[in-house]
Amino acid sequence: LSEYDVIVIGAGASGLMCALTAGERGRRVLVLDHANKIGKKIIISGGGRCNFTNLYTEPGNYLSDNGHFCKSALSRYTQWDFQALVDKYQVAWHEKTLGQLFCDDRSQQIVDLLVNECRGAGVTIRTRTKIESIDHQKNGEAPVYRLETSSGHFSTQSLVVATGGLSFPTMGATGFGYQVAEQFGHNIISTRPALVPLVMSKQWLEQFAELSGVSAEVIATCNGQSFKENVLFTHKGMSGPAILQVSSYWKENDSVFINWLPAVTAYDFLKEAQQRRAKAETQTILAEHLTKRLANALCEHGKLRLLTESGRKTISHYSHSELEELANELESWELQPAGTEGYKKAEVTLGGVCTSKVSSKTFESRLQLGLFFIGEVLDVTGHLGGYNFQWAWASGHCAGQFV
Ligand code: FAD
Repeated sequence: LSEYDVIVIGAGASGLMCALTAGERGRRVLVLDHANKIGKKIIISGGGRCNFTNLYTEPGNYLSDNGHFCKSALSRYTQWDFQALVDKYQVAWHEKTLGQLFCDDRSQQIVDLLVNECRGAGVTIRTRTKIESIDHQKNGEAPVYRLETSSGHFSTQSLVVATGGLSFPTMGATGFGYQVAEQFGHNIISTRPALVPLVMSKQWLEQFAELSGVSAEVIATCNGQSFKENVLFTHKGMSGPAILQVSSYWKENDSVFINWLPAVTAYDFLKEAQQRRAKAETQTILAEHLTKRLANALCEHGKLRLLTESGRKTISHYSHSELEELANELESWELQPAGTEGYKKAEVTLGGVCTSKVSSKTFESRLQLGLFFIGEVLDVTGHLGGYNFQWAWASGHCAGQFV
């Protein structure tokens, strides 16, 4: 039996951050992971360039049953703190858009710097280790966790669950963290795929399949949350950052609304076009803001088809109320998704270990001394744009100071 002060289950973003922080405090730390490699999601993230944080991180960028839970950690370990760590290793980065910081070269650099920090702090990392069981006993007042694993038996006073969410099972994601939480009496807020492409009905796809690959900047809205980013037509439905963002707010039978003219007020634009290009057809007018292909396809289907007579109606023919109706349709074009592409394609998992029985300061369970939960396994889910890693760094760092 090998004894450690701290055992972290999961060598991902939050687990490695927690391990290096605890190691720096002189704690003997072991990190266990069942995968063959550590930090797999970091490596594939951001299209291979890892969007490692966001300059505008704030609690409003996170979904959780308790919106306050994330505040403390985010303020104690900020985007600037992680940026300083990246700079310490002279990893070149750039701001892509909307405060999103990406590596110039490869996300592997982020894994390398975490491993290097862990090494410097004396942390032991073991991959390909299956956790078979976790037993809890007491040594006087102190808790003792005994882990039976495929690499032997280990014991520790502080056990950290950093196993992430369910998305991308091909990258080693499992529901193990939820099982451990339940074993010790924690509730799980029901999970669902988030930051995930939306799937459309067969009928819709027949109409818009020709647009597969086309993207446009829009404002997408779902359940009162709006995002001004790109959408992308796919062969299954719609994706792109704006759709991924609203997918986190979408539930079955909800609609998503798309404003195809985010740069202007649709009515004012159409009214002005009526004077400027009276003889132009609707789709030609729309092509001032959208690609021709998109303008044509939009006018050829659904409610816009009725309003525009397939785009052939010249703009001068619209009455005031018809113009209003057209503007309204262009600003809130309704999408009724049939579903999502599921955990296989979701960047993150909504829901998870309920935060009400976890300390937002130490990340220790309020039910079970010495048990900690960090990162995505908790019911805290960030928007797209580096927020999920910032949560992993912040929660990992803060727990690392108390384990
Ligand atoms: P993870 O990093 O997922 O780590 C969990 C670890 O636990 C893994 O190593 C796993 O192998 C291990 N594990 C799981 N089950 C077990 C078990 N039973 N036994 C032992 N070990 C286990 N977020 C951003 O902020 N920016 C991005 O650019 C970004 N891009 C992404 C791209 C993709 C394709 C995906 C899927 C996600 C992306 N994310 C991004 C989200 C981000 O990767 C996660 O939110 C983040 O990694 C969560 O950190 P974590 O430590 O909680 O979990």
